[in-house]
Amino acid sequence: MIFKSHKLLVEHLKKKVKSSETIGFVPTMGALHNGHISLMKEAISQCDQLVVSIFVNPTQFDNKKDLEKYPRTVNNDVALIKKYINADNLTVYAPGVEDVYGKKTVAKTYRYDGLENVMEGANRPGHFDGVGTILEFLFKVINPDQAFFGEKDFQQLQIVKKLVEKQKWNIKIRGCPVEREPHGLAMSSRNERLSPEAREKAQLIYASLQLAKKYFRQHSIKNTQKLVEQLFEKEPDFELEYFTIASEETLKPVTRKYKNHHYRGFIVAHIEGVRLIDNTALYS
Ligand code: AMP
Repeated sequence: MIFKSHKLLVEHLKKKVKSSETIGFVPTMGALHNGHISLMKEAISQCDQLVVSIFVNPTQFDNKKDLEKYPRTVNNDVALIKKYINADNLTVYAPGVEDVYGKKTVAKTYRYDGLENVMEGANRPGHFDGVGTILEFLFKVINPDQAFFGEKDFQQLQIVKKLVEKQKWNIKIRGCPVEREPHGLAMSSRNERLSPEAREKAQLIYASLQLAKKYFRQHSIKNTQKLVEQLFEKEPDFELEYFTIASEETLKPVTRKYKNHHYRGFIVAHIEGVRLIDNTALYS
């Protein structure tokens, strides 16, 4: 069943979901691909009922053009979900902006203990306030037991965990591995905007993360950083926005390696005007 109204959605869930049943929730912005589907499969393997939201959330875009260009393909999205998920256990919420925001499309302000001030937070002002605002709304309406997020947006995943912890919501946040194209490019709705040549070249993102992973075991943070920057310098069609090695927990960039600490490499690069994001765990 597909709902555009949160009021009708709430009524529906009250009737449909038995008190003994659990709800798994997967929030998305649509233009679905196998990365999203992997989250839904995981959710339905863990919970009795799956709720998927499809909503291009305006308050998390710092760039109006990006918001306008974002693909909206709800009918195809629902058809794709139904290929994999039994309709008896599925509810889709695909509202318009007014159903979520009423007359005022504004974000609330959130503090996530500094997780919001680095990388995507520093480069996209207000982004994580928008993310917090939409998730607070969706969590209140859907009241899920568990919610599933991709490690592709690792900073977002950590921020959602922090949000739930700070607000003391009783929701388990699950991180799911990055689903990739055969050559390693992280699946993304943005990949559709790449020419075949750029798609081929975009393999460099994952390849450089893999090389960094190997190199990091034996070398310093500074030199691992240099290695990745040099790989991108050789590819003039690419613009490296950042490659940051950060603590997995605080997401703060690090300059020195310590034993038993979890690190991650975070990358954003542009090709043909498309902004691509990825990350990997690094082991010292
Ligand atoms: P989006 O529709 O881009 O907001 O993404 C919705 C959810 O799907 C987020 O939790 C993303 O991290 C996750 N996601 C997007 N792409 C992938 C992927 N390639 N592998 C795993 N999860 C993904």
